[in-house]
Amino acid sequence: MAKRINKRIDFHIHSLFSDGELLPSEIARRAEVLGHETIAITDHVDSSNLDTIPKVIKAIEDINNNWDINVIAGAEITHAPVEIIDKLGKEARNQGAELIIVHGETLVEPVAKGTNLASVNSSEVDILAHPGLITPEEVEIAKENNITLELSGRKGHSLANGHVAKLATEINADLIINTDTHSPDDLITFEKAKKIGLGAGLNEEDTLKALIDNPKKIMKKSNIKF
Ligand SMILES: [Zn+2]
Ligand SMILES: [Zn+2]
Repeated sequence: MAKRINKRIDFHIHSLFSDGELLPSEIARRAEVLGHETIAITDHVDSSNLDTIPKVIKAIEDINNNWDINVIAGAEITHAPVEIIDKLGKEARNQGAELIIVHGETLVEPVAKGTNLASVNSSEVDILAHPGLITPEEVEIAKENNITLELSGRKGHSLANGHVAKLATEINADLIINTDTHSPDDLITFEKAKKIGLGAGLNEEDTLKALIDNPKKIMKKSNIKF
């Protein structure tokens, strides 16, 4: 296997185009200083605000052209009716989003039942974020459809990390470790992210896969340049 470079990749970050505190450029600058190689800006979307994606992309182009960090335009489909998750994914891609994540059935919010299942069955979805008490059947489908499951660094969402890590390991589904950053202090170093993987019960090798190999696999699958 190629030598891994321990630089942070984080595919779940909110800017003030949804409920984050910072502009895309402010996030990118802080992430660059903290040793990030690649981040995705994944603001919450439903049908009301898909048109914010092109605005974020303009800032992302400025960042990628001038700074030593790679920023990806994404979107987090959030609390959408289960029936339209796939359609919203398509629409977000039409607006330029390169990475689609879905706000999964976290233990700390009343996310509609069926959100996890609809997400792992959607060809538009790259990552199912904080999927709570996801079932073994849903993890199997995620694996078949190359959808990556998230371990969350965020308080509350992280309550089910141990469950998600255990099932993903048993079934050999892909994991990623994201922060779900809303505030500048939510960004973390590679070493801290590694501790979150180990703390969820992953071994060292699976933790490094979740931190480095799996995000790169997503970029390759979606033809995102890096
Ligand atoms: Zn949020
Ligand atoms: Zn979320």
